[in-house]
Amino acid sequence: MIQDQEVLAAEMERTFIAIKPDGVQRGLISEIITRFERKGFKLVGIKIMVPSNGFAQKHYHGLKERPFFNGLCNFLSSGPVVAMVWEGEGVIRYGRKLIGTDPQKSEPGTIRGDLAVVLGRNVIHGSDGPETAKDEISLWFKPEELVSYTNNAEKWIYGQN
Ligand code: UDP
Repeated sequence: MIQDQEVLAAEMERTFIAIKPDGVQRGLISEIITRFERKGFKLVGIKIMVPSNGFAQKHYHGLKERPFFNGLCNFLSSGPVVAMVWEGEGVIRYGRKLIGTDPQKSEPGTIRGDLAVVLGRNVIHGSDGPETAKDEISLWFKPEELVSYTNNAEKWIYGQN
C-alpha cells in the first residue's frame, strides 16, 4: 500500500532560486525568503557564495547569444549570491509568479514589482521550467547539500490531516 507520505513526495517538485548580488547588498535576503516560506513552500537547500564568471556563464548558458550576456555574467559574479532550492507542489511555476517579470511590468505584490526598478537589477532568479530547474539545481548543489524532511506544517498546507 502506498503511504500518504510517498504520494505527497511524488507530487513535490523543486526549483532553483537565487538572490542576486543586488538583492544581497540591499538587505533583501530575509524579505525574499519570507515570501516563499509564508506561501507554504519548503526550503531544502541554501548557501551563500560568490560565483566565478565561468560559473555564471554556465548558469546562463542558454542566453549566450544575447547582447546582455557578458554584462549579466559579470553582474552575477560581482558579489555574494544566496542560492536556494525550494520544494512544494507547483513551486516552479508559482515561484515565477512570486518573482514577477520585468520590474517595470510586474504587479505590486510580486518580488520584482515591489523590490526592483530595472531589468538588469531585478534581485532574484528562478528556474523557468522543470528541465531548467533540474539542471540549475545540479549545477549549484551537490545532492548531499539538499535535505529531505517533513515539515510539521505540511499536513495543514496540503490537507493530509
Ligand atoms: N536581463 C538583462 N537585460 C535584458 C534582459 C534580461 O540584464 O534585456 C537579465 C535579467 O537579470 C534577467 C536575466 O538577464 O533576470 C535572465 O533573463 P531572462 O529573460 O531569462 O529573465 P528571467 O527568467 O530572469 O525573468
